[in-house]
Amino acid sequence: ILKINNLHKYFGELEVLKGIDLDVYEGEVISIIGGSGSGKSTLLRCINGLERKNKGDIVFEGKKVKRDFTKLRERIGMVFQHFYLFPHKKIIDNITLGPRVVKHTAKDEAKNQGIKLLEKVGLEDKADVYPAMLSGGQKQRVAIARALAMNPDIMLFDEPTSALDPELVGEVLQVIQQLAKEGMTMLIVTHEMGFAREVSDRVIFVSEGQIAEMGTPEEIFEAPKDENLKRFIQSIY
Ligand code: ATP
Ligand code: MG
Repeated sequence: ILKINNLHKYFGELEVLKGIDLDVYEGEVISIIGGSGSGKSTLLRCINGLERKNKGDIVFEGKKVKRDFTKLRERIGMVFQHFYLFPHKKIIDNITLGPRVVKHTAKDEAKNQGIKLLEKVGLEDKADVYPAMLSGGQKQRVAIARALAMNPDIMLFDEPTSALDPELVGEVLQVIQQLAKEGMTMLIVTHEMGFAREVSDRVIFVSEGQIAEMGTPEEIFEAPKDENLKRFIQSIY
C-alpha cells in the first residue's frame, strides 16, 4: 500500500534520514523503535508530507506522490504525542471538522459518524464537552477518533502514549490494538516495547537516520543482531 524508496531528509547541514527503504503492506502493523533523535518522527512526518523530503520517493497505492501531499494526507491519519485538539470546540466538533471542511460531508452524517467513532473509543458520553474536561488518555482517544473520521487507509502514530500518566497508557493502547485487529494499516513510533511486541507484524529499529534492523518482534527483541539495537534493548529492560 505504501513504498518508501531511498528517502533522505536534511535539516540544514544535518542529515536526519539517510536513505530509508520500506514497503508497507495493507493491513500490516509496523512499530518503529529507536533512540531519541534517530529520525523516527521525521520519517513519519515525511511520509504524510508534514516535512518535505529532500530525496527519494514515496509511492502510495502504486502512484508516486509528487506535489499532491494534501490529497495524501486525507488518506493517511496521524496521531501525535500531544493531542492538538481544538480547545474551544466540543469533542464532537473536533471530530467532525475534518470531514465537514475537507470532504464536505453533510452535518448530520458527519455527526452520526462522529458518534459512532466516539463509541468505538469508548467516549460516546463526551460528545458535548470540551477538551479541557478530559483526561490525557481520553483526549488521545478523541485524537484517534478524529483521525479515523477521515476514513484513512493508513494511520501513523508518533509516541501516542508518551505524554500520558502511566495509568492512562493502557486505554489508548487498547484502542490501537482494536484497530490492528480490524486490519488497519499502521506505523507506530513507540517506546512501549511490550505493546510493540504484541501488536506488530514487523518492528523497525531506526538508528542515525537509517533502518539498522528490521524483523518480526521475535527477531528484534529476542535475537537482535545490530550492536546499537542490542544496546537499545538492554537500556530499556
Ligand atoms: P525522539 O525519540 O526524541 O522523538 P526522533 O527519533 O523522533 O526522536 P526526530 O524528531 O525525527 O527524532 O529528529 C531527528 C533529528 O532531526 C534530531 O537531531 C532533531 O534535532 C532534528 N530535527 C527534527 N526536527 C527538526 C527541525 N524542524 N529543524 C531542525 N532539526 C530538526
Ligand atoms: Mg520523535
